[in-house]
Amino acid sequence: MTGFVMTSQPGNGAVDHTGVVDAVPSTTPAPFGTIAAPVMVVAVTSGGVFGAPSVQPTEPVQLHPFAHGLHYGSSCFEGLKAHRGVDGVVRAFRLDYHAQRLSESARRLHLPDPGEQLIVTMIEQAIRANLEAVPDAPGALYLRPVLIGTEANIGAAATPSREALLYVVASPVGDYFAGGIRPLTLQVETDIPRTTPQFGQVKTGANYAMALDVTLQAGRDHGADQVLFAPGGDVQETGAANFLLINDDWVVTRALDSTFLHGATRDAILRLAGDLGYRVEERSIPSDELVAWAAGGEAALAGTAAVLSGVGALIMEGRRITVGDGQVGANTLRLRQALVDVQQGRADDLHGWTSVIG
Ligand SMILES: *Cc1c(COP(=O)(O)O)cnc(C)c1O
Repeated sequence: MTGFVMTSQPGNGAVDHTGVVDAVPSTTPAPFGTIAAPVMVVAVTSGGVFGAPSVQPTEPVQLHPFAHGLHYGSSCFEGLKAHRGVDGVVRAFRLDYHAQRLSESARRLHLPDPGEQLIVTMIEQAIRANLEAVPDAPGALYLRPVLIGTEANIGAAATPSREALLYVVASPVGDYFAGGIRPLTLQVETDIPRTTPQFGQVKTGANYAMALDVTLQAGRDHGADQVLFAPGGDVQETGAANFLLINDDWVVTRALDSTFLHGATRDAILRLAGDLGYRVEERSIPSDELVAWAAGGEAALAGTAAVLSGVGALIMEGRRITVGDGQVGANTLRLRQALVDVQQGRADDLHGWTSVIG
């Protein structure tokens, strides 16, 4: 429909240093996030106030080498998707939720707050300018708004950046986890936390840097895809997705608190589960409970990138515990489909989550 094909061969859809996409037909899907759509939207502050956004080619941005964000971590981002529906219409999913969360992240990092309205406008502009790059389902256009503290002051370790750069880039994507819909293996980490109490709810780079070493180690030692952080035996989430326990009757997940990222996908799955007659429980999950749950239940990761991905095994204290029959569970697939049906315009959007863009 779009003629836009994702590939991973060098020169075939890869991003060169100018950010231009050279799309050549191929059947190899590119890894998630490696292809830049041709247009980005940029806004900068002057005197701490954001000016009008500019729609321009995706190309390198200029930062002063003294920029606050490069030294002191004053940066945050969002991740959301626009889907091409079965009717050909392109819809953004939960624009307002993501704009609100970026605005909240900005405030927590003491960065100039672009405000929800500017963020929404820039995301809409980015989708509209890249409509040709929105792949057919199950692919989507992934939008990545980024906010960076730009004040040129390497002495500002203990003061906020008064200036900032906000840009929205886009990337046509397929599956986040290589291999499509397959059961994931999670290592349950009961010692090292994912982040700090201050940053649990903030989508900021430091969190992913902190999780990197333990995630690599879990992959090397146990072939784990992700780490499920459960400091002190209190299950929180993985490095970039929320964690849910599911069975024929229940969907159970951690209640909202400051320790973890409040996902738009988590929220949507809980509401769809309620619509479908599941009983939804938001409460703490002790890691001990995982073993009992794994015997007959399902587990899944919820996130924009992960959608709803089934967990086939948990590694706990070096022991491998199969979840259910080790495959992606039937209820997980059902809830995933309910979500995807709304995103792709196959089901009525009863909760007002989608915005028609083009
Ligand atoms: C982005 C993210 C999620 C998922 O949030 P969504 O809004 O569903 O995409 C969950 N946990 C972490 C740590 C994240 O960074």
